[in-house]
Amino acid sequence: MFYLVFSGGVGNTGPLWIYIVAPVSVFIHGLKRGLIDIAVFITVISCIMFIPDELIVHAQYSTEFKLRLLYSFLTVTFLSSLYEYSRGQSFKHILELSKKYQQLAHFDPLTQLSNRRDALRILKREQARIARSNESLSIIICDIDHFKKVNDRYGHNAGDAVLRELAKLFTDSIREQDCVARWGGEEFLFILPQTLAVNANIIAEKIQNQLKHYVISYEDKSIKVTVSMGISQFTAEQSIDEVINRADKFLYQAKDSGRNQIFPKFENIT
Ligand code: GH3
Ligand code: MG
Ligand code: MG
Repeated sequence: MFYLVFSGGVGNTGPLWIYIVAPVSVFIHGLKRGLIDIAVFITVISCIMFIPDELIVHAQYSTEFKLRLLYSFLTVTFLSSLYEYSRGQSFKHILELSKKYQQLAHFDPLTQLSNRRDALRILKREQARIARSNESLSIIICDIDHFKKVNDRYGHNAGDAVLRELAKLFTDSIREQDCVARWGGEEFLFILPQTLAVNANIIAEKIQNQLKHYVISYEDKSIKVTVSMGISQFTAEQSIDEVINRADKFLYQAKDSGRNQIFPKFENIT
């Protein structure tokens, strides 16, 4: 571009090509760096065009042409910057939306725990891992006892606060490699890699004991809840559905036995 302005190109039409510089600069380098490049470009071509012919011999343009060339170039720069700015804003907006939907696709908005779909993805990944490594993997399905009564007595917002508090307690109670997900309305699923059912039982008991002393405060209300839990360990031949169904069966046994229970019982195992 400098050479075209300097030499005049074919029939002194060389400067007509400079309009390419504005959109290409902001597109390649972004708004800030692009505008700096353009400012340097304008300075250099102004020097080339306005430098006295006695100093360096170069193409001659009328003063009107030079001024109009610069005005029109500044207008194209302004429009290119405006376009680049709105492109940047739209890109930022789309990126935020994409992050938000990604979050919604994997996490439960109330508790911020993995949702059912994400829990199934983790289970599939863990199942594939134990098939290769021969490690153990257990799950706990945990259901809040008489949660409907909590809602009826304290209101739905209090029920939501209980779910959020329990999610925090559960997250704090597990190891780094474990995962707790919101499996359903008031049901949570613990995924415990490298854990035998008997050890999952110890984790379940720990949670049960913590809940004994745990009071959830919501506004001026103090709420206490208990949970029932069903445990199941993965075996090589069983599908995810079969393992979940077994844990569910134990959960119902725990409910039938008066709630606030863990099934199966491992008291006799040392
Ligand atoms: P059980 O001991 O047999 O489990 O009794 P339960 O009352 O906990 O079980 P039930 O299935 O009868 O009721 C579950 C209740 O959980 C009903 C539903 O309104 C409530 N629930 C589910 N999801 C939410 C939620 O996101 N927020 C609130 N506040 N309540 C919820
Ligand atoms: Mg339930
Ligand atoms: Mg329940």
